[in-house]
Amino acid sequence: MTFDYDLFVIGGGSGGVRAARVASGDHGAKVALAEEYRMGGTCVIRGCVPKKLMVFASEYGEMAQDAQVYGWDMDVKGFDWSRFHDGLVKELDRLEGAYRNTLKNAGVETFNQRATVVDAHTVALADGSTFTAKHILIAVGGRPFVPEFEGSDLAITSNEVFHMEDLPKKALIVGGGYIASEFACILNGLGVETHQYYRGSQILRGFDDECRNHIASHMQAHGVQIRCGTDIVKLNKQGGRILATATDGTTEEFDVVMYATGRVPNTDALGLAGAGVKLGLKGEVIVDDYSQTSVPSIFAVGDVTDRIALTPVAIREGHAFADTVFGGMKRTADWDLVPSAVFTQPEFGTVGLSEEDAAAQCPIEVYTTAFRPMQTLFAGRQDRVFMKLVVSAQTRVVLGCHIVAPHAGEMIQLAGIAVKMGATKEDFDRTVAVHPSISEELVTLRKPVRTA
Ligand code: NDP
Repeated sequence: MTFDYDLFVIGGGSGGVRAARVASGDHGAKVALAEEYRMGGTCVIRGCVPKKLMVFASEYGEMAQDAQVYGWDMDVKGFDWSRFHDGLVKELDRLEGAYRNTLKNAGVETFNQRATVVDAHTVALADGSTFTAKHILIAVGGRPFVPEFEGSDLAITSNEVFHMEDLPKKALIVGGGYIASEFACILNGLGVETHQYYRGSQILRGFDDECRNHIASHMQAHGVQIRCGTDIVKLNKQGGRILATATDGTTEEFDVVMYATGRVPNTDALGLAGAGVKLGLKGEVIVDDYSQTSVPSIFAVGDVTDRIALTPVAIREGHAFADTVFGGMKRTADWDLVPSAVFTQPEFGTVGLSEEDAAAQCPIEVYTTAFRPMQTLFAGRQDRVFMKLVVSAQTRVVLGCHIVAPHAGEMIQLAGIAVKMGATKEDFDRTVAVHPSISEELVTLRKPVRTA
């Protein structure tokens, strides 16, 4: 049987674009890719990239204050959202163009419309045309999940936050995960009175407890009003504002309420079930380690599979899929010891096991340090850095490394190499410190603060 394409990719985000480029550009496959929105996906268009630019924008306020202590004459009059937003739009346009060029240069044919799966080898486009392909790759990502309750339609999500016409004066963020905590810090840094409601006992559930506490108290000290054990019962329109009623019965008005209560796979009405592709309870595509679904010609990578919802992981999955299916190299991504960063303020970089998870597995030693770093101490700030190494008492291997500090994301990328290589505490210790730096403290942790 002949097909129109060797590969038809649905979704132009990180995973889909990488798979298409490698299959076509490196392995010579005839590839098409359909994207219904903008090329680049969540990461580039409404996720990591615009978020990080907003993080940068939100940090300049305090930096400008600190610069004065360092001797600079500063006259900062405030933050101009529309000026920043114009720049943001231009940058995203540039990046989208770069993604399109990547695909074009790799010889991938692109369709700017929604595609659905008809059967194991057929894809239909929104304009009614259909194409056959030897392989189909589902890389449609996820979308924000907002629970349904009275007035829930008044809430915005991370999709809309980048398109706000004006900066609100007062905002409520609901949720305690990556997105909620990052945006609470961003809005707070931009001068918005920011409240964060989280239903659990401490934000950033799943991460190392001491780090979570450190981050939350730092966020509060810088102005984010965090209320744990609190959820929303209803939202009502009140003039131009939103009245939020919380589970404890209190009410408060906000200009914007943003829900960041998790994300769900984008598999609605995609035709997958009809084609025989097995889906999980959240609608995620069930795949094996090679990203193959229950239909052998259909594969899926990235957030739609609900494995680890991080761009670099989706990229690895897409690349491994293309190498396996079109390059004759049987490869899988590696989901073990994936370093990541939460771009809160303070930033959090983490790799490996939290103290709690490690202690549940084996005897451990815990090394920590907390101190005021030079740069902000000089500026009169009380901010503290916090670092932790979780070490196996038996093998001496560093099981977890957790850093709450400026540029912790940069640090954990490098510490992640050592942890991934199986470095022991003694390997860290015999590495000479870089002085004066924050990260040098990672190689000068002498005595465990506790064993467990
Ligand atoms: P998370 O899963 O991290 O957090 C969801 C939050 O919403 C949790 O605090 C959860 O509470 C809460 N929640 C869930 N359902 C409800 C509900 N019905 N009512 C009230 N609260 C609720 O999801 P995010 O949306 O923040 O991020 C999605 C994923 O995107 C992340 O897991 C991460 O993989 C990725 N991401 C990564 C980033 C990075 O690398 N820096 C940045 C942004 C996103 P509870 O804890 O009680 O379940």
